[in-house]
Parts: sequence; C-alpha cells; structure tokens
Amino acid sequence: MKYYSTNHQAADASLREAVERGLAPDRGLYMPEHITKLPQDFFDHIDRLSFQEMAFEVAKAFFGTDVDEASLKHIVYDTLAFETPVVNVARNIYSLELFHGPTLAFKDVGARFMARLLQYFIRKDNLSDGQVNVLVATSGDTGSAVANGFLGVDGIHVYVLYPQGKVSRIQESQFTTLGRNITALEVDGVFDDCQALVKNAFMDSELNGHLTLTSANSINVARFLPQAFYYFNAYAQLKRDGKLTFDTSGRSNMVVCVPSGNFGNITAGLFATRMGLPIKHFIAANNANDIFFNYLQTGEYHPQPSKQTLANAMDVGDPSNFARILDLYGNSWENIRQDISGATYPDERIRQTMQDCHRATGYVLDPHGACGYQALKEQLADDEVGVFLETAHPAKFKEKVDDILGTDIDIPQRLQDFMRGTKQSVKLSNDFEAFKRFLMTQ
Ligand SMILES: *Cc1c(COP(=O)(O)O)cnc(C)c1O
Repeated sequence: MKYYSTNHQAADASLREAVERGLAPDRGLYMPEHITKLPQDFFDHIDRLSFQEMAFEVAKAFFGTDVDEASLKHIVYDTLAFETPVVNVARNIYSLELFHGPTLAFKDVGARFMARLLQYFIRKDNLSDGQVNVLVATSGDTGSAVANGFLGVDGIHVYVLYPQGKVSRIQESQFTTLGRNITALEVDGVFDDCQALVKNAFMDSELNGHLTLTSANSINVARFLPQAFYYFNAYAQLKRDGKLTFDTSGRSNMVVCVPSGNFGNITAGLFATRMGLPIKHFIAANNANDIFFNYLQTGEYHPQPSKQTLANAMDVGDPSNFARILDLYGNSWENIRQDISGATYPDERIRQTMQDCHRATGYVLDPHGACGYQALKEQLADDEVGVFLETAHPAKFKEKVDDILGTDIDIPQRLQDFMRGTKQSVKLSNDFEAFKRFLMTQ
C-alpha cells in the first residue's frame, strides 16, 4: 500500500517510509491510498470473533500487502494482550474502557503496535547494524505509552525527553523506572523546549549521519491506524449482547462519542466506518479547547493557543489530525457535519459531570471520559445506543478525581508497581549542543 501526504506535495511513501518518517517531507500527514471495505460476512459474524481475531482482519486490510501474514498476526496478537471491555454506565450509555493496557490509557494500543511494526522492518531489512533510536518529547502521557510500548523490543532504544518538575509523579514513574532500552532525559525547561530539542535533532545532518533517528509521535500511521481496532470490538460486544438495531439501509443505532485533543482517536473511528463498520454518528467531545467545535458551527477553522484544563491530554489548540479529517471528506464542511457533531465543556462542567455520574451510577469517570459521557447525555436519542471512549483510568488522575468526588479510589496494581520502582533519569539543559553531544556518545 502506498501512503500519500495530505499536503499532496511530497512523493508517495511505502509503509516503512511513512512509519520511519512520521510526518511527510511536505509537513503533511500520511494517508493510506485506499481504505478497503471488509466483506459483509465479516460483519455478520464479528460477534463470534475474539478481539485479536477481528483486529487481525482489520490490520490485514491496511498492512496485509506490506507485512507477511504470520508476522502481522504476531504483531496484532502481541499488541492486544489486554481487553477493551464495553461497560454499561446508564440506561443506553456504555463506556468503552481503553485503560486496561500497561500504562492505563488508549495510547498503549498504537504505541505497542508501532514498536512491533518497526521491529519487524528492522529485522526484515537488516536495517542498521546498530540500533534505531526513537526520540519522543512528552508533557506526560505520550512518553509513558511510547516507553512501555517499546520496552524490551530488540534493536530499538527510546529517549523520552520531559520537562523537569512539570509532569505528575505517577506519569514520571511510568517512564523513568523502566531501564533496559528506555532512557529518560529530564530537561531543565518546559515541554516546548523538549519538543524543540527533538525537532532540531531530526534536522541535524551530522547527528543523522551518525545515528538512525525516528519519531514516535501520535501522527505516525503505525500509531494512528491501529486505533480503529477497538471500534470494531465495541460494536461486536454490543451486537453480541443484542443491544443494536438496524435500519433498512443497514445502519445501526450506535453513536460513538470520542473525547478528543489531536483527533487521532476519532479519525481512526471514521476509518472504521469507511471499512464498513455501521456506526450511525460520531460526537467529538472537547474540553474548553473548542477549535473543532467552532469549526462545526461556522465552517471556519481558527487554531488557538491551547488552554490548560482538567482534561489536560486534550489541551490542544490546533489538532494535528484535522488535516486527515478534511482529506477524508474532500474538504466538505457539510459532509463532516453530517457525520460528526461537537461538544465543548469548561472545567466546572467536567467536575459536575463526574459528580453527577458517580452519584447516579457509581461509575468513576476520569476527566477526559467525563466529556464523552456528558455529550452522550445531551445528544443521544432514546432509540440510540451511545458508547463513549473512556480514554484513561481515573487513577491516573487520582488526586483530582478524589478531590472532586470525595473518594479514595484504588490504584491498580500495575500503576503501583511503577510508583515503587527506582527513578533513573539523565539531567540535561535545554541547550541543543549538549543534547547532541549526549546522543553522539551513546
Ligand atoms: C491523547 C488522549 C486523548 C486525546 O486523543 P486524541 O487522539 O489526541 O484526540 C484523550 N484522552 C486521553 C486520556 C489521552 O491520553
């Protein structure tokens, strides 16, 4: 399969090129040149397949021409070593819990898949005698998902750059206690400094002559496309439980609400529908960063500086995957509005929703999932079934959640294990020459 850039200036890339580059040379985002519709038979029997089995069918449609079947199966099965259950929260509202992976957030799926795909290419092409080095700047959650996704993967070393003192202790423990092929770099600066160091490293020809560098950010096709898997799984579970109805054109009554920041997760869901998954409608739920919401109302897209909110993994003022959504819909605002509606919530509303839901149902929402739940509460029709993506475990935000709900929620064992580990990090200034010297001597 070829991958084209949403800016249409760069040449088409192979899967391997698209994965290693992340961003296309013309600064566009890579898109697969076609999206294969899966056969009706697959949808008729999907409720009898395991998550791994159905994900393998989805993966074949994207990667089947580039990765041999046995290897792809291994990559998918190894990636999905945990479930994504659908849990009933209120009458016709369900939570798709995406927090059962190693770092308790949905980014585990994409990060684990990308690590294994990259390893496949390294082995197959005997790429580099040494190793591939993944550089990732993080303000908290991406670093842990990428570090854990790549942990113990031969031939790859990960450098996580994070701003000293600016990530929570829970987050920090998830990428500083791992050791092995993961090095945490504690930068004296802010997140933007970390990002600038990574960008400069990719542009430095001396460094790139010396080391094989690659990025693992969320726009990478190998992180982005696998997120389609769990939409199929949610559908299969609801179908199995007899919760869905269908109209004469085969459309279901399933509405999916996605708490969104960079819009990668929801875009993967849109891909799933292009593959034939009969989702009726999407809702993009935002925190106070309302750029996409305003676009849906007005047809005008105005990026803004991001605002800090309670749901901080969605604090994005210029969603990177907006380019993919536009491309998917041929730039038609009308068509986008037909498939996706929006919602935007200030922190007070998020708090209120967490309290209301906890009081009425006993379910503990995290601040991101709360945006999704609230949008379904407001927009779901009586005859529809709504699924919101619970994108992270509430214990990742324990202090906030306990403070809002007056609870003392349990910390899952695997999160406790991270927190008990010994922190190992290398302290760096925010000066590029020092970072470069460090990398050159590794
Ligand atoms: C990354 C993240 C989001 C936003 O996902 P996008 O794909 O960027 O829209 C939402 N919730 C949590 C917990 C996240 O980590």
